[in-house]
Amino acid sequence: MEHYDYLIVGAGLYGAVFAQEAGKAGKRVLVIDKRAQIAGNVYTKEVEGIQVHQYGAHIFHTNDRTVWDYVNRFAEFNRFTNAPVANFRGELYSLPFNMYTFNKMWNVVTPEEAAAEIERQRSAAGITEPKNLEEQAIRLVGTDIYEKLIKGYTEKQWGRPCTELPAFIIKRLPVRFTFDNNYFNALYQGIPKDGYTALVENLLGDTELRLNTDYLSDRERWNAMADRVLYTGAVDAYFGYRLGTLEYRSVRFETETLDIPNFQGNAAVNYTDRETPWTRIIEHKWFTFGKDREGRELPKTVISREYSSEWKPGDEPYYPVNDEKNGTLYQSYRALAEKEERVLFGGRLGEYRYYDMDQVIAAALERSRAELG
Ligand code: FAD
Repeated sequence: MEHYDYLIVGAGLYGAVFAQEAGKAGKRVLVIDKRAQIAGNVYTKEVEGIQVHQYGAHIFHTNDRTVWDYVNRFAEFNRFTNAPVANFRGELYSLPFNMYTFNKMWNVVTPEEAAAEIERQRSAAGITEPKNLEEQAIRLVGTDIYEKLIKGYTEKQWGRPCTELPAFIIKRLPVRFTFDNNYFNALYQGIPKDGYTALVENLLGDTELRLNTDYLSDRERWNAMADRVLYTGAVDAYFGYRLGTLEYRSVRFETETLDIPNFQGNAAVNYTDRETPWTRIIEHKWFTFGKDREGRELPKTVISREYSSEWKPGDEPYYPVNDEKNGTLYQSYRALAEKEERVLFGGRLGEYRYYDMDQVIAAALERSRAELG
């Protein structure tokens, strides 16, 4: 039977970065993934010349120069800047809240006028000790922005009225008194021109790979094949859910190809009213400015409607739930994980935490250094 230094469970970003580094260090590596394709949740699939983000829109953004240089060795990035638009019952507003938003909402022209209007609405509401999310949001940005741009969207995301959500969910609401629609405050931002799947393909290089292969259904066999295991699947699943199930928030996507060149003129439009059932629509072609790799205009378009949905065991896990119950349960699983001598746990599922892509890459690089020297 073949033998490896490392068995890597999961061909997502964490596993692929570790595989790249282990290969470079001269280790024999086998990567397995239970899915039929590589790249985990950053998987993109080409449809009508468009890179479609199958598990939700992914925009690469980072302040970490080392990570930015690292990913640029494996993919060419474009200059995409995330500038979402809000649609409130057909009225369109710029996000994040900035001078374009305030001009559209109140016809104000100067930053001073905008700040004065927000202040007027905040003090008119007279909230000092917010009892729920609604009061907290009004205390921070006044009634108009709350009613049109926060309320409906937040209620759809959480499936509950804002008056029943705790105030602490919103700590701050960034308000910009500049004409700046750039959603992320990051030094570096962009989208891989050939999609994220190609990025992960390049990270994996010639690493041996087996897809459609579930580690947990035959773990004895896989363990016997390698000295060490890097596991990037769900930590509670690894332990057979013996302490309980970690919870997630989920998203459902409805994707369709349309025989028109332009559906909404922007990559992301958030629907901030309560009545529209979806939270946002992604139009994938705008991540590459409506063009293919050779710069040709794309005749069709692909859109994904996103719906917030309750997660139940068996559903695709998306966002870890950041509450005490799940935090405590994770700590118990982590204590078990630390006792597994040959197994390393990493990534968003292995560590039950929300990682942006740059963070997951930085974490995998750090782990590689600690492990491989
Ligand atoms: P994953 O990509 O989940 O990879 C884990 C892999 O392990 C999967 O391929 C899975 O099939 C495999 N696996 C699990 N169990 C087993 C098993 N038993 N046997 C074999 N294989 C197994 N980040 C950004 O920086 N910008 C964004 O815009 C952004 N948008 C996001 C949008 C959404 C909706 C979500 C949920 C996340 C977003 N992220 C974004 C975060 C990004 O998706 C993660 O940082 C990244 O996917 C984490 O990589 P990973 O390798 O840890 O996990």
